[in-house]
Amino acid sequence: MTPLPASQQLFDRARAVSPGGVNSPVRAFRAVGGTPIFMASGEGAWLTDVDGNRYVDLVGSWGPMLLGHAHPEVLAAVGAAVARGTSFGTPSEPEVLLAEEIVDRTSAEMVRMVSSGTEATMSAIRLARGFTGRDKIVKFAGCYHGHVDALLAEAGSGVVTLGLPETPGVPAHVTADTIVLPYNDRAAVEAAFAEYGDQIACLITEAAAGNMGVVPPEPGFNRFLSEVCARHGALFVSDEVMTGFRVTRSGHWGLDGQQEGWAPDLVTFGKVMGGGFPAAAFGGRKDVMEQLAPAGPVYQAGTLSGNPIATTAGLTTLRLADADAYARLDAASARLRTMVTEALAAEGVKHTLQNAGNMFSVFWGTDEPVTHFAAAQAQEAWRYKPFFHAMLDAGVYLPPSAFECWFVSAAHDEEALSRIGAALPGAARAAARA
Ligand code: PMP
Repeated sequence: MTPLPASQQLFDRARAVSPGGVNSPVRAFRAVGGTPIFMASGEGAWLTDVDGNRYVDLVGSWGPMLLGHAHPEVLAAVGAAVARGTSFGTPSEPEVLLAEEIVDRTSAEMVRMVSSGTEATMSAIRLARGFTGRDKIVKFAGCYHGHVDALLAEAGSGVVTLGLPETPGVPAHVTADTIVLPYNDRAAVEAAFAEYGDQIACLITEAAAGNMGVVPPEPGFNRFLSEVCARHGALFVSDEVMTGFRVTRSGHWGLDGQQEGWAPDLVTFGKVMGGGFPAAAFGGRKDVMEQLAPAGPVYQAGTLSGNPIATTAGLTTLRLADADAYARLDAASARLRTMVTEALAAEGVKHTLQNAGNMFSVFWGTDEPVTHFAAAQAQEAWRYKPFFHAMLDAGVYLPPSAFECWFVSAAHDEEALSRIGAALPGAARAAARA
């Protein structure tokens, strides 16, 4: 492993003052071992760490950096916004422009801005419960919707990476109304609604699951969910925090609902829409959204919600995310998927690479399609550890967990792809030997 003295020193200091030395669990290298790398700067597809090493970045801040790091136009817009003042606690123009952009691109008729994806899903659930007057919610095992108490049951992302069965601190009564079902399982959905249909406020699903590795919805699955919800008077909540403005200009809805002529009742966004700043949103049907305070009785608020800097960064990012940017991103992702599969096949590493649009991940030690959480968990995740470190040593920064999606940006050009191409054969050999 490349020695990382400056990262090591910062990590030692961080551990003394922060639990585990990180401010979000997946940043720690618990699943892969070694020292988390402290990054000092980013530019385009590249990150530079505090020891001066450069990496091609395939994490993209876990999704937000659609255009790559430090895009000059985003930086200029943010700089100009900062010079005008950083927060007013009043409405401001950028939040209106960003809301208009989101409403233009997606199924949402109205949106409310918040500061994180967690807040977005938490608030969407409160609104669904307030609107329907019902308490139960349905989620899928392996889907992650942020660290909302009621949604941590059988969650993906860091919860599965760290192998945490349940989180202490969540009272049993808080999850008592959460029904957890296997993803892509229509019969299980029908059965749950047959039994509890008149008590279910909403069903929430990732528009395409990306937090147990990438597990796309089977064709028609999201439409089926929306129909079942409608039949039982429950709301269909599509979590597009990860997929939103990434897999198409209108998110995953652009791959299914928009084509098929249906829309979720509520939808959540985050990541890309903040352009690297804390901005997220939930939105949807006007009649539902108008139940929110101050228009309606369901309370929800935030000191920094719609913050002018965050919304300027997000708006500038979305305005730059044109057809050409999505074409570049999709092409880079497709090339990379082929490169990874070929490198692993050349070393005889059994694997399944799955994608939802340009988001993808690798499942190790299986060549079957992975359609639900139990299958994702059954993979040979330990093969990822030597693969990850071989890639890192060769200058490619991957998510430090086999259960996370790989994020490409529109800035992943030939130079970035060739660095990855040079790293892959050695990493595939390391995975084969594991
Ligand atoms: N929903 C999904 C689908 C996510 O992927 C995430 C974050 N990875 C969240 C919600 C939570 O967002 P945040 O980390 O901004 O709270």
